[in-house]
Amino acid sequence: MPALSDLSLGFRAAYLDYERLTAQLRTWAEAFPHLTRLQSLAKTPEGRDVWLIAIGRDPDRIRPAAWADGNVHAGELAGSSVALALAEDALRLHVEPDAVDLPEPIAARLRDILFYIVPRISPDGAEHVLRSGRIVRSVPRDTRVDRGTPRWVLGDVDGDGLALSMRVKDPGGELVEAAGFPGLLVERTLEDTGPFYKLYPEGTIEHFDGKRVPNPLYVGDNPVDLNRNFPWSWAPTHEQLGAGAFPASEPESRGIVEFATAHPEIFTWTNFHTFGGVLIRPPGHSPDDKMDQEDLAIFRQVEAWMTEHTGYPTVSGYAEFLYEPDKPLRGDLSEYAYNQRGAIAYAIELWDLFKRLGMERPPKFVQYYDRVSRADVVKLAWWDRDENEGRTFPKWRPFQHPQLGAVEIGGIDPRVGIWNPPLHELARVCTAQAHVFFRVAALAPKLEIAKIDRHPVGEGITRVEVRVANTGYLGTYGVPSAKHLDFNEPIYATATAQRCELVGASHQVLGHLDGWGRGLHTGANLPAYPGTRGTTHAAWATYLVRGAGVLDVRAGSARAGFITARVEV
Ligand SMILES: [Zn+2]
Repeated sequence: MPALSDLSLGFRAAYLDYERLTAQLRTWAEAFPHLTRLQSLAKTPEGRDVWLIAIGRDPDRIRPAAWADGNVHAGELAGSSVALALAEDALRLHVEPDAVDLPEPIAARLRDILFYIVPRISPDGAEHVLRSGRIVRSVPRDTRVDRGTPRWVLGDVDGDGLALSMRVKDPGGELVEAAGFPGLLVERTLEDTGPFYKLYPEGTIEHFDGKRVPNPLYVGDNPVDLNRNFPWSWAPTHEQLGAGAFPASEPESRGIVEFATAHPEIFTWTNFHTFGGVLIRPPGHSPDDKMDQEDLAIFRQVEAWMTEHTGYPTVSGYAEFLYEPDKPLRGDLSEYAYNQRGAIAYAIELWDLFKRLGMERPPKFVQYYDRVSRADVVKLAWWDRDENEGRTFPKWRPFQHPQLGAVEIGGIDPRVGIWNPPLHELARVCTAQAHVFFRVAALAPKLEIAKIDRHPVGEGITRVEVRVANTGYLGTYGVPSAKHLDFNEPIYATATAQRCELVGASHQVLGHLDGWGRGLHTGANLPAYPGTRGTTHAAWATYLVRGAGVLDVRAGSARAGFITARVEV
């Protein structure tokens, strides 16, 4: 078998374009056909595939699965690299087991679970960002029918192939050059003497009247944010910016929802974003005391691993990541995965830039983004020049704009350094995330046929008792709150007889089976009142069989997968 390092196309040290990302996935699929299934979840309007690679021994057999995705937002390329690194590490569990950097009980558990990796949810968006630097929130298209209002159309205007920023001198400008770094624009204060600047995206203005410059919008000419387009708690655009016309209106989100609906075996769901250096967990819509407290204990375990291996803090979306107070985000992917698919789901903002700048943690994590000071950004610019090859702050170049006259173009390119970690740090980010991802994946339930007993009961009849047990961390339902989800059926067992005859029911409902894990800080370490649960992790299927032959027993559920046993009677 080829070595994984020989098959790598460099995603731990570069941000791959679509062609290279596709080639990476195909390379793995061709080298390890017994361990992989590569499928397209959707075809984008620009003709690209949203790839999902399933990885695991016997990849067609349904069993507990761990999901990771990245790059739902166009500029958040590091998520793709981390997702590809997780795919490579998942392959390593099987093809280079001696090189796996995980405790053996965890690695052994992982060899029996499935991984679903979607490295790039928005390949069209990522491609526009990689090629031109143009700001694209998620997908690079605009299908709005309302076209009458003047607006910015982003794109290259000076012919260098890039669509970065334009600055225009204006006494009423909000920005001024920092004294500490030539060309660096910072927020103006009363003490500044100018010159002052307006800052616009590189591009042109549709319906320009020659005088009034419209506000550039963050979502600009690409109004749908896929991470507001998922069906759980979706709300229309006038209530939630970026929502799209209706839930899962876009092929990319639609493809994910269709796959997830057909695959209730997804127990954990990691959604990679950039940037900030934080894990954002549910609940996004209420305080922690309104959350299922057993779920919360499991998230505390995830939090402990995240702190240990990455140094990133964990916050709830509601407590520390609302852009507006008391206005929960609607239609986002991780809330869909938790509330509607019952997964241990969360978003990770990769790249702890604020910590690098030495900023003090504000009361709410989201305030970091607002509190970057002039000194912080000067520090960032010097760091960029010294350690990031000056990628983030290229020089301004004078240009005669067809609508605005004298402008300067260039200046800011946030792709590598702000939106994403610098290339020399990417490998470390991938490794740190793998330590957490694989531990969370190892929480999956594990069904076993633990014991088979045969008791002759007279008249040629044998009572066969099959003990089905869950020896995994989570219950067969997943997180405790997922018990109420309609697809979350109880474990059942079905038997078929050969050369003998079943007397009585062949189909038996066994119920959900608890796991042994309950999360962190549940009091289980204190032997003041010793005792655990009874055998709530096991159940018996009992069959009466007349004659001698073979009984085939299949036990499981759509969510926990199925196991089989052959019983000689
Ligand atoms: Zn994002």
